[in-house]
Amino acid sequence: MDQQFEIQADTAITPEKNISGFFSRLHDKLKSAPIELVQTARLKIRNNNVLYAIPGHESWLPLLKLAASEFSSFITYGRTDMPLAVGVETVASCTRKCSYCPVSKQEFPETRPYRVMRDEIYNSIIDTLSEIPRRANQKGFNGVLHLNGYGEPTIDKKIVQRTEYARKKLPEATIGFYSNGDNLTEDLYLQLRNVGINEIIMTPHDGKFSSRLQDLGEKYFEDGILKLNPPLTKLSNRGGNINVAEALLQSPTNRCVHPSFTMEITVDGTTILCASDALIKTPLGNISKSGFHDVWDNKYYRQMRRALRHGKYDLLPEICRRCRIPN
Ligand code: SF4
Repeated sequence: MDQQFEIQADTAITPEKNISGFFSRLHDKLKSAPIELVQTARLKIRNNNVLYAIPGHESWLPLLKLAASEFSSFITYGRTDMPLAVGVETVASCTRKCSYCPVSKQEFPETRPYRVMRDEIYNSIIDTLSEIPRRANQKGFNGVLHLNGYGEPTIDKKIVQRTEYARKKLPEATIGFYSNGDNLTEDLYLQLRNVGINEIIMTPHDGKFSSRLQDLGEKYFEDGILKLNPPLTKLSNRGGNINVAEALLQSPTNRCVHPSFTMEITVDGTTILCASDALIKTPLGNISKSGFHDVWDNKYYRQMRRALRHGKYDLLPEICRRCRIPN
């Protein structure tokens, strides 16, 4: 694998604390628990609102998120370190040029030209996810599948077809995407609803939504699919790729847990360390070619996730050393 960065040997990082006793007892309990109960517990734990209700959560949020995701991963897969969310960038282009988005920078179109994910890559990614083994002889990724990266998914002409394919192959997953809403017509919304999309999360990049999108949100409120986010108040500097005023940046954290439970896949099928890597400086393999476990469990990927959790930034690529990201 072509690594554009290096990380020291495993021994440079403190081993994870051994909590296997707890998980082994939990494993025994889960063996006899009804599968519906396990599924409900998994979905409740994944809801971050539970974490935000904990007093003083700000300073503890990375670790709380990690603990919640490890727990959820364990009861789903029988191991604590599986991703609970996968992002697939089906199109690498957007309708806007936001000041806080790295791919809007003038020099970036050359390195990230307009591209659409090839069908064979997309289908192979979804097929691979559908084969992931779970507890109790079940299989198939059942976390959150978001069909977006740095592109605007509604300009992907195959977004309905792709959603339908993912729904067929991953019946228990939460499928959706983030969007600026510019191209989200009522007709497109209904097509996506008909093929089983779960969520379309819209962000008001101008500070507020157009009356068209507000009306759409109100008309289909009962579906629970359209989610109109509040305006952004805190921003990430995207691994140092953009300049953000200090007042808008979250306080720096001394560890990063995002890559421990999220896998990001770019338009050509390359897995990258995290969504901040707009220039694809951290390629970690391609699950459409090598399968899920060869990528997620490879040595470099595991070492980096561990270094990030332990705040060992000196062992990490430059984007992590320059990064300021909201919790
Ligand atoms: S610290 Fe690294 S892995 Fe974490 S969000 Fe920043 S760039 Fe991504």
